[in-house]
This record gives sequence, structure tokens and C-alpha cells, in this order.
Amino acid sequence: RKFGYAIVGLGKYAVNQILPAFAECEYAKVTALVSGDINKARRLGKHYGIEESHLYTYDNFDKIAQDPEVDAVYIILPNSLHADFTERSFRAGKHVLCEKPMAVTVEECQRMITAGKKAGKKLMIGYRCHFDPVTHKAIELARTSIGKPQIITTDNGDNTDPTDPTYQWRLTRSLSGGGALMDLGIYGVNGSRYMLNEDPIEVQATIMPPSDPMFREIDETIVWIMKYRSGAVAHGSASFNVNAMSRFNLQGTDASLRMDPATSYWCNSVSHCTTGDTHTWSTPMFTIPALNQFSAQLDHLAISVANNTPLAATGEEGMQDVRLIQAMYQSAHSGSRPVSTDWGDWRKTI
Ligand code: NAD
Repeated sequence: RKFGYAIVGLGKYAVNQILPAFAECEYAKVTALVSGDINKARRLGKHYGIEESHLYTYDNFDKIAQDPEVDAVYIILPNSLHADFTERSFRAGKHVLCEKPMAVTVEECQRMITAGKKAGKKLMIGYRCHFDPVTHKAIELARTSIGKPQIITTDNGDNTDPTDPTYQWRLTRSLSGGGALMDLGIYGVNGSRYMLNEDPIEVQATIMPPSDPMFREIDETIVWIMKYRSGAVAHGSASFNVNAMSRFNLQGTDASLRMDPATSYWCNSVSHCTTGDTHTWSTPMFTIPALNQFSAQLDHLAISVANNTPLAATGEEGMQDVRLIQAMYQSAHSGSRPVSTDWGDWRKTI
């Protein structure tokens, strides 16, 4: 039978991206829904063929332990709720797929990893780009076709609509844990690490003063630098108050890579520019058959559990990004002074 997921939190990402993606899964299906709004759960349950006995609220969620149709819980809630629901899911004897950012503190991430180990269950973080063939092509080119990687530039941003509930919790520190960096900049942080296959040893960051009172609790716009032992440097920005942007530029000694968009849902692209083409991005963009990142991600955990194969995006991977983000916030809140992140290089190739 297919690997069964319970989806916890029926907000925008769950409803618009994840639930429809099950249609293209080979090994996974949705078997339960968990929501604070039972009518919404009923409506979606009807659409996806899930019976009332597999609909849960946040309060009676722990009963999921007795639901044999549920193998894993996929947590798609505001960031500060990730840790508690992960622990509850492990206590219920389920595997966990948890959205990015993994949690709002390093301590929470550690608790989640420990709970998974204690339960003997897998913990995966929702880094969908790890399942994007364009990203895989970019990583391959970064390893083989640009010479020595020197400089990464990465920018991620979007406009905020304060009337939309999906943005309201993002503006509230107690629910989000931070602003543009936690929500969007994390793609640049994680992406720089997989592009270089290396962890930074020092970070620095500056948070710009908010341009609107709605951003008073969180970073509206932040810029940062990450330095690597190899000599490479990544610099990036994230903003909640710009026209949408999602891009990577990787400059090597012999060639450059450009991804724009880099981390979108469906239409990422990568182009490769060699010496001699310095002013024209003339080499073809790599057109790669679109793969549904969401379905591939859902299947990946199912396959990993069935065959006991390693996960592409582990809790440790998620925790490293949260640690780096916290170090950037520490720098930003102390006059942008450099903060050492030389915690040892444990990365493996994705
Ligand atoms: P959303 O606001 O649209 O959905 C969140 C859901 O959580 C809503 O159904 C809301 O009712 C529910 N919820 C439960 N308790 C809540 C509380 N105390 N306050 C507010 N809402 C509460 O948000 P979203 O965009 O779906 O994001 C959810 C998670 O998914 C976040 O962690 C986000 O970072 C992540 N996400 C990931 C991607 C990706 O591409 N991987 C994309 C979007 C969102």
C-alpha cells in the first residue's frame, strides 16, 4: 500500500501546493487531515476522499497514534509550532516531514532530532529545492564547470499583504521567529551551502530599519555575508517589501552560473557563462523537464522509510540553517560584527 501522510495545517502552502501534489506521487498518498477548522477539514476531506474518522483537530491530534493509515505527519504550520507538533508526532509513533524553517531556535531543532531518534522514526525538512532537477543541474555545473567557486550572490524577497492571514503570523515574532531571513532568506542560506558543498565559518548581517510599522517585530530587509574556509564568499539579501525575487549567481574563476528564478515552484532556470562570454549570457539556459518538486519530496520520505535509505534533507540539515540564521541575527543585533560559525564541516553532497 502507499505511504500515508497526515497533513497538519491547512493553510496556503498545504492547500495550494502539497495536497494537489499527491496526484503525481508514486509511493505516497494523503490519508488524514489535521486542522483547527473542522469544516475546512471536512470540505478538503471530501475532495481528497478522506473519511471523517481520519480528520483531526489540533486538540485531539494525539489520537493519530491509533490511526494505522498514517505513516508520517507533514507539519505545515507557522514556524513556532513546528517543534511541538514534531514531538507529538514522534510520540504518536509516526515519521515526520516538517516545513522550513525547521523551528525558531536551535534548542527546538535539537529537541526535534532527539525525539526522532528516541522514537526510531525519520525526520525530514521540507527543502523542496533538493528535489528540483534544475537545482541538481546547477549543483553539477558548480562542481564541474566553473573552476574554483569564488562569489555567490543570492536574493530572495516578496511583497507583504498584511490583510492576508498567511502574512499575519509571518509579521508576529512569537509565531515566525523572525522575518524575511527566516521565511525567504533561508533559501539563499541553504542554497549557498549546497552550491558550495561547504559550511560558512563566519557570518555578518545588517537589518535595515523598518520602512513600515507592520515590520516592527521582524526583519523587513536584511543583508548578510557568509565566509567560507575555501576562500569563497556568499552575500545575500532577503526582504518582505520588494517585488518578488529569487535568484542565485555563482561566480567561479572560469565561468558563472545564474539562476533566476532559483527557488520558484515550477519555472527555475540555470544558465552557464564561460570566459569569453563575460558580457553576454550566451550559453543556453538548461531546459530540463519539469519535475513536480512537491510530489518528489513526498515520495522521497516514503522511499527512505521503505528501503531505509538516507534522507536528502535531514533534521541536522535544517538545524544548521537555523543555527546560521541565529548567528546572522546575533551579528545584526550587535552592530553587524562578524560572528564565528566554525562549528565543523559536516555537509554531505545532496
Ligand atoms: P498559512 O498561514 O497559509 O498556513 C498556516 C496554517 O496554520 C493555517 O491553516 C492556520 O490556520 C494554521 N494555524 C494553526 N495554528 C495557528 C496559529 N497559532 N496562528 C496562525 N496560524 C495557525 O502559512 P503557509 O504559507 O502555508 O506556511 C506554513 C508553513 O509552511 C511555514 O512554516 C512556511 O515557512 C512553510 N512554507 C514552505 C514553503 C515551501 O516552499 N517549502 C512555502 C510556503 C510556506
